[in-house]
Amino acid sequence: MTHIVLVGAGHAHLSVLQALSQTHLEGVSVTLITPERYLSYSGMVPGWMAGHYLKEQCQIDLQPLVLAANINMVIDRIVGIDADRCCVGVRDGHYIEYDLLSLDVGSEIDTSWLEMSGPKLLPIKPLGHFFDTWPSIMAGALRNPDYRLVVVGGGAAGVELTLAAAHAFKLAGVTSSVELVTSSTGLALHGQKIKQRLLQQLSKAGVIVHQHKAVGIKEGLMLSDGFVLSADCVLAATGARAPCWLKLSHLDLDENGYIAVNQYHQSLSHPNVFAAGDVCSRQDVLLARSGVHAVHAGPILAHNLIAMIKSTSLKPYRPRQKSLYILACGARYAVATWGTWSLEGSWVWYCKDWIDRRFIRRFTKF
Ligand SMILES: Cc1cc2nc3c(=O)[nH]c(=O)nc-3n(C[C@H](O)[C@H](O)[C@H](O)COP(=O)(O)OP(=O)(O)OC[C@H]3O[C@@H](n4cnc5c(N)ncnc54)[C@H](O)[C@@H]3O)c2cc1C
Repeated sequence: MTHIVLVGAGHAHLSVLQALSQTHLEGVSVTLITPERYLSYSGMVPGWMAGHYLKEQCQIDLQPLVLAANINMVIDRIVGIDADRCCVGVRDGHYIEYDLLSLDVGSEIDTSWLEMSGPKLLPIKPLGHFFDTWPSIMAGALRNPDYRLVVVGGGAAGVELTLAAAHAFKLAGVTSSVELVTSSTGLALHGQKIKQRLLQQLSKAGVIVHQHKAVGIKEGLMLSDGFVLSADCVLAATGARAPCWLKLSHLDLDENGYIAVNQYHQSLSHPNVFAAGDVCSRQDVLLARSGVHAVHAGPILAHNLIAMIKSTSLKPYRPRQKSLYILACGARYAVATWGTWSLEGSWVWYCKDWIDRRFIRRFTKF
């Protein structure tokens, strides 16, 4: 029996689960290790905060997918890999051996310089924890007219979360404001026009933008100019970092600790290990860490895992030079970007809504 172990039910592994349900592999058993039965779709989280979706509409139930593919699902989190011995370690201390391993565990939010904010700190990931905590933030803001929510992170996620929170506060009649802290260089988005469009949306929503690096302190944050920004909640959508347990895995990693892979998303050091999504680092091409690439790499990853079993040829994942990103602006309004080109409008939001719902449908009705 050849044992395939899939770790993490990220965007790319959804395609793998689907492909395995459509392919009969003789003498192969498959195990999926995932901390949760449901995959939360990050692209719809700001829409959930803004009141456009129910939580259930932003999640994919993995149970029907694993049943259809005859896969054993282990609800747990891995805490280590020994790629030389071909095994992964799970939280309760036992090991699971594999012949072929595929990793799609995403990245973590780097909160190292915000930790001093203590219990006020709320990282956007893991998304399951954020879903559970956000209602208490709303309740706190409703109780306290001076409530201060500060979002840290000037990338696409930080801007979307800020605008979603501001919209949710407005809908609920909360009078307190939402503030956004970016780095000293402002919003981390490509193109001046896109930055302008989003700064305009932030200004319309009454969001104060602080262009300073910040560190966490007991009161909330201290900005690089010495200003103390007191906060009741510091919502972190700061940069990504690789899971630290990869350091001891014996896998080749890049300088930032991500799994170094080739064009087939195969580990450079261990040919029986594959990785896709945020956790991998392509060594032949610059690949942004985004859901778009995780989704697009999924069918190629599925092909390559099956090809390894059947000893057929692997396919490369060739990322497009530019990808479409649509940023929701709280209300049913959005800004679309493609390279440095951009446009905005209500109809753009409806396009995003259609794309996101279609993605969820693809893996719930099959
Ligand atoms: C609010 C927000 C909005 C975003 N919007 C967009 C967008 O519109 N477009 C876009 O392209 N990108 C967007 N992104 C970025 C996008 O979410 C990530 O790039 C994408 O999720 C990466 O996909 P992935 O498959 O690598 O991992 P993920 O989708 O993060 O999935 C990883 C899975 O692995 C599991 N896992 C983690 N650790 C372990 C472990 N130790 N053991 C087992 N399982 C584990 C997790 O529970 C999770 O289910 C957004 C991010 C955020 C935070």
